Amino acid sequence: MRPEILFPLFKPLTALPGVGPRIAPLLGRLVSGEKVIDLLWHLPSGLIDRRFAPKVAEAPEGAVVTLTLTVDAHTAPPKHMKRLPYRVRCFDETGFLTLVFFHASADFLEKQLPPGQVRVVSGRVEIYNGERQMTHPDQIAGPEELDSVMTVQPVYPLTAGLTPKTVSKPMKAALGGLPALPEWLDPPFQRQRDYAGWQDSLRAVHAPAEAAELEPTTPAHARLAYDELLANQLALALVRRQLRQAAGRAIAGDGQLREKLRAALPWKLTNSQDLAITEIAADLGGAFRMQRLLQGDVGSGKTVVALMAMLIAVEAGAQGALMAPTEILARQHYRVLAPLAESIGVRVALLTGRDKGKDRAATIAALAAGTIDIVVGTHALFQDDVLFKDLALAVIDEQHRFGVGQRLALAQKAGDGRPAQMNTLYMTATPIPRTLALTAYGDMESSRLVDKPPGRQPIETVALPLDRMDDIIDRAEQAIARGARLYWVCPLVAESEDSDLAAAEERHRHLAQRFGDRVGLVHGQMKGATRDAAMAAFAAGTTAILVATTVIEVGVDVPEATIMVIEHAERFGLAQLHQLRGRVGRGTGKSSCVLLYQAPLGETATARLKVMRETDDGFRIAEEDLKLRGAGEMLGTRQSGMPDFRLARLPAHEELLLAARDDTRLILEKDPELTSPRGKALRVLLYLFERDAAVKYLRG
Ligand code: ADP
Ligand code: MG
Repeated sequence: MRPEILFPLFKPLTALPGVGPRIAPLLGRLVSGEKVIDLLWHLPSGLIDRRFAPKVAEAPEGAVVTLTLTVDAHTAPPKHMKRLPYRVRCFDETGFLTLVFFHASADFLEKQLPPGQVRVVSGRVEIYNGERQMTHPDQIAGPEELDSVMTVQPVYPLTAGLTPKTVSKPMKAALGGLPALPEWLDPPFQRQRDYAGWQDSLRAVHAPAEAAELEPTTPAHARLAYDELLANQLALALVRRQLRQAAGRAIAGDGQLREKLRAALPWKLTNSQDLAITEIAADLGGAFRMQRLLQGDVGSGKTVVALMAMLIAVEAGAQGALMAPTEILARQHYRVLAPLAESIGVRVALLTGRDKGKDRAATIAALAAGTIDIVVGTHALFQDDVLFKDLALAVIDEQHRFGVGQRLALAQKAGDGRPAQMNTLYMTATPIPRTLALTAYGDMESSRLVDKPPGRQPIETVALPLDRMDDIIDRAEQAIARGARLYWVCPLVAESEDSDLAAAEERHRHLAQRFGDRVGLVHGQMKGATRDAAMAAFAAGTTAILVATTVIEVGVDVPEATIMVIEHAERFGLAQLHQLRGRVGRGTGKSSCVLLYQAPLGETATARLKVMRETDDGFRIAEEDLKLRGAGEMLGTRQSGMPDFRLARLPAHEELLLAARDDTRLILEKDPELTSPRGKALRVLLYLFERDAAVKYLRG
């Protein structure tokens, strides 16, 4: 239960002055939340200094000034000329200045600026036809309010329908009502960093006095960011502790199946693969449940590591499951794994959303009976009626594509209604910079496949402007004549899947004029069977060019494909480009990647394409991506499974993140159930950042 002291912060926005039913949804969208605290997390992006208060005659053109004026006379535009402005002439002892309003309400202005009265106005001075004027003053106030107008005011990011005032008014009220929260920072740490308390820090970030104070590195901002990162690390650590503690059982196979598989493989495992398998075996053989991340670039050979891991479960008489985010990927994993596993006598099944009726029923029955050792599938494995005889290991591929709910559903699937005992191996081919991995998984064990299988040819990468398209098509023709196969990825058009599709269909038509039925097409909106057929035709070489949207991004494996053309490469993120490029260079043939871009290129796009030309090390690319984009955008939106920080900025706050991780370790060592005074304050912190679920795992 949320502590009472936080109640004022969790009231709806409508509890604040100036937020009625019309404004509330707009404001809610702006601050991504409906509560007072969400508004408070909305930090200023700029400031405006209204302390300069000259006389009219000295007010320089273009400057923001605060003037004390007497209202002289109103001039409304003639009735039939509504587009002309409404003008209010004002003066002080040095001269006249006209206030100018477009589409104004005369009634309103007469009330605000009654002739003969003194008013304080603040805004930007313009000179028009040799006369001073101010269009739509930012503020109009009585003379007694001069002091509160003559200040440095924060400027908040806005969206349509909101004015500075619709944000600043409730903000002021919210800041006025901040509760005094108990201090959750470690006192020596707080002193060393010179951090003020939570309340003062929050007020300070909303009251910048100069531009430098808008930086995330100010102590006030850093403190708030630290709070958020600490809540993140602490919550992850508590959840992880819970997952690990729930009575793991030691799963130790006799190694026989693994030996057989090694012997059956046409190549030797790389050192990284060996190491990862050893680490996994040690986790599984230990008393705690495994929660391990397996990171490896495209083509680094994660699949066989996953299979080895599942074989340990099978050796121990239990089952393994491998879950992929899409149907295509599940089928592909199955195609690779099934023959290998079956050659050593291990039974593998496939279960996806497309399986219906009798087949599905038979697979489910076999899983429950334990006559299937390993199952490969999609979300379909999460369905309620899918029960295992004894699932000991779940491998989740590209797990950031699964929702948290689905991950939890899987964790409940140990079988037989026993408490979940799931050992989990999370695989990702999107190398995640260490910092982001830390925010998404906490201090999780991780294995990295850093060396590629031998014999891989580097991929030659070139960037060319789109107007060289015809050359590229000519060269594609020559390559195809020599037997090459080529992917052609079409522009990603923001927001709309339909427009992605239109672009791909258009390119398909265009290329088909030249290459006829040797051009295939796949996109995300195709029926499964049609899409499989298109993929199969390309894999078999019936088609030589496969025009695609980004559905081929992850995992699709056609070793004979050696050329990747990416149209409008400037619209893709680095990680995505890297993923796409990884579709080639998988066989023995020399491979190339052509990045077609729309000139002129912006700065970031230039930098991205440069990185792509320089390296194909996914870990390095991921770090560069983080630098270029910042964490918020790095892995897309919420569905990426990455937390959305409100106050922390990565990589700017990377050092704070590491400190929060270390702090978390110490906290849980010294006060595992958060019962000390500081521990209790930390519980408040968890609630403040809505990590309520993590608090559930604490006793008392
Ligand atoms: P990932 O899933 O990490 O992108 P895969 O597991 O699909 O990579 O492996 C890519 C290709 O490399 C596959 O064709 C696989 O058979 C092959 N492969 C895996 N490990 C090795 C190895 N040690 N030596 C040679 N080839 C390997
Ligand atoms: Mg793979």
